[in-house]
Amino acid sequence: MGQFFSGLKSSILSLSAFAALFILVEQYPIYWSVKISLIEQVLYGLFVLTIVLSSYFNRSRLTLATIVLLLFYLALTNFIPWQQWLLSHGDWMLLAGASILSVLSVLKDRGLLSIHGAYRFTLLSGLAVASYYWFDIVNMLTARLVHVTHLAPYLKYLTIELPLTCCTLLLLWRCVREKSLVITALLSSYCIWLGHYYQLTTLPWSVLLSLLMMHYLCVIFIDSYFLAYRDELTHLPSRRALNQRALSLGRKYTVAMLDIDHFKKFNDTYGHDIGDQVLKLVASKLAQVKGAGKVFRYGGEEFTIIFPGKTIAQAKPALEAIRQAVEDYNIVIRQGLRSTKKARSRKKSSQMKTVRVTISIGLAVRTSKLNFEQTLKLADQALYRAKKSGRNNVSE
Ligand code: GH3
Ligand code: MG
Ligand code: MG
Repeated sequence: MGQFFSGLKSSILSLSAFAALFILVEQYPIYWSVKISLIEQVLYGLFVLTIVLSSYFNRSRLTLATIVLLLFYLALTNFIPWQQWLLSHGDWMLLAGASILSVLSVLKDRGLLSIHGAYRFTLLSGLAVASYYWFDIVNMLTARLVHVTHLAPYLKYLTIELPLTCCTLLLLWRCVREKSLVITALLSSYCIWLGHYYQLTTLPWSVLLSLLMMHYLCVIFIDSYFLAYRDELTHLPSRRALNQRALSLGRKYTVAMLDIDHFKKFNDTYGHDIGDQVLKLVASKLAQVKGAGKVFRYGGEEFTIIFPGKTIAQAKPALEAIRQAVEDYNIVIRQGLRSTKKARSRKKSSQMKTVRVTISIGLAVRTSKLNFEQTLKLADQALYRAKKSGRNNVSE
């Protein structure tokens, strides 16, 4: 359950930051209203910057959303001659925009200058066309169903409310499922889109779109940072983050190297997929280490914990506690996911099974003659001793 909601925390943070900025802008028009013509000019720059950066960092869903919003804005400002048509087709615009934003949340980020890009452009154009004909379809349905007395009172909700409810549920579901700020950015765009239609905001489109583009740009930067410094499987900081952190360490610190015991055998028995699941769960346990320890995935089934400003004596209780916590951890796995030959030959049920793993830990304190790499090496040698002395223990 915790895993299920873990993506929600960053989404809520990101949405809250956007909402706070939105409220500030709405409450204090005095600061920007005199500069509205400048904002209108800058918006084009923001559009271009977002399109360039989102495609460069392969956030193609944001590129597509930006292109759609740019087309909308160009039409609205009569830069392309659809203004009158758009203004007289407000309901279509609402449905087309809402369906495009929610369907984008289901797609994967794929290169736009490829066949995937062509599919995506076709799909989004198809949604715009389908939204146009939706009203005719509903009219036809209504004409047929209006005689069914118990349905008649609800038919008026078919046109707008029903598709909007579907789009909203789809986006919210994706927001909970996918641990990605891109979905949050799509959700904020969706809120703005609906908010403007239902006149919940009076901010001009140039301001709303500028806020959205700034949100997209923040998402691109934060996402790229996480891509570089977070391990994809365990979501712990990566080795690159460890090297970066090492540069900012003071003179006194303790380093621990941790390694899961007999993990190769575990993979051979349960399969690599289960191995991945276990690695992830063990990592989430390690992340709870006390004593101000900072956990990194060093690589494979090895982890590093740094205790800034701590001696071995100060760090050891926290490491003993985490070793014990992993030993006691009943890891629930789904046996049906096994992928070994032995496993495949068995009945593919999705029975739950509880497994356990242990970890060995080696630790070393930084002394005046050592740099970070040398201290890490000492911790690694201590880990080797921990393995030699029977595993599942902490060695200095
Ligand atoms: P020891 O107790 O001596 O550490 O034994 P070990 O089998 O854990 O050690 P070894 O270093 O020989 O093997 C590490 C294994 O960890 C090899 C590989 O199958 C597994 N492993 C490394 N990275 C991953 C990963 O990302 N996912 C999975 N499923 N397995 C991994
Ligand atoms: Mg190893
Ligand atoms: Mg190992």
